[in-house]
Amino acid sequence: MVSPNTATPATVRQVNRAILLNLIRTHQPVSRIQLSVLTGIYRSNVSFIVEELVQEGLVREERGKPQGRGRVPMFLSLDPDGFRVAGISIRAGETVAALADLTGRILESTAFRTPKSPEVWVEHFQASLERLRSSSSRKLGDIHHICISVPGMVNQASGEILWMNALPNYSGFKLRDVVESATGIPATTVNDCHLATTCERWMDDASGELRNFVFLEVGDVGVGAGMIVNGELCTGHNSTFAGEFGHMVVESSGPKCNCGRRGCWELFVCDRATWRRYDPVREFSVVRFKDLTKLALKGDRKAVKAFQETAAHLSLGISNIVMVLNPEVVILAGRLTEVWDVIRVPIERAIATLPGKPQIRPARMSAEELFLNGAIRHALSGLFAQPQLG
Ligand SMILES: [Zn+2]
Repeated sequence: MVSPNTATPATVRQVNRAILLNLIRTHQPVSRIQLSVLTGIYRSNVSFIVEELVQEGLVREERGKPQGRGRVPMFLSLDPDGFRVAGISIRAGETVAALADLTGRILESTAFRTPKSPEVWVEHFQASLERLRSSSSRKLGDIHHICISVPGMVNQASGEILWMNALPNYSGFKLRDVVESATGIPATTVNDCHLATTCERWMDDASGELRNFVFLEVGDVGVGAGMIVNGELCTGHNSTFAGEFGHMVVESSGPKCNCGRRGCWELFVCDRATWRRYDPVREFSVVRFKDLTKLALKGDRKAVKAFQETAAHLSLGISNIVMVLNPEVVILAGRLTEVWDVIRVPIERAIATLPGKPQIRPARMSAEELFLNGAIRHALSGLFAQPQLG
């Protein structure tokens, strides 16, 4: 008989430590007494863990302003210099590498053109890490974790890139292991939209309200997605993928998709599809698409019509997603959010009749910023996450 996993005293302390560190992050400056009230953990136990965090340099304690005759309270906050991580975002055109502190603030960043070969990428990456090190006052050894955002499907357990349409040579490459052995720093490789989703959640953390939402990134030729269900990122049974809403088949005899099937939703809502509605002759390009958004904002009827047709297709897919998941919010990212006022009304009208009455809103940052900041947050998440039993 297999005995069930149970919490040892050490596990309980680890869990409480992560909870307290997270509360210091979201409520700083905060006193030990406030932490005890917020958590229900005995003050002596709070103090024991806080001492440990102060000694490790993750938290600092400062005297507050004297109020009346009582004792001057001491307040805790994160020590930004207590921890360094690197967040990396691989895009088809460019890779951005950033060094960040314990609060997730970017200290230095650098970029290079993404090569077609992953082996060459690792060489460029090491050079960029060196550049970050020389421009930073802290040593390379002080980087505690590296998280790499990947525009493709990743096996979370093995770190292997399973499928990357934008950079086919990277498919099958064990990026995490290669980076770890090249740098000696623990690394993770995560799907870009999963990182963007956790980044949105992190930014919302202080209110602690966003526990069920869907993130959709409408890109040049596809749709990326992530979903938080009951406060947890959903990654599927083998941690490889989930929420590939872009590949919901909406027209079984539709155009061929690169996933091998026909009529996937992303073929109707991606930026290239919007462009083709506007101009079926000239090829899609990012520059042309940006001009199209400007035309739509100026009220150009043909441009507005192209975006509204895309909004109709978006509404259809979003309605299906809402009926399956009943999220509180659907967050939309991508260049088409620049014409939010053009697409918002048709989508809102379509989902207004659905049960659950979900909100729809644009992301707080551009997709590129979310991927990079999501990687930084993920690299820090080990400190704030509660350990699993077992
Ligand atoms: Zn597909």
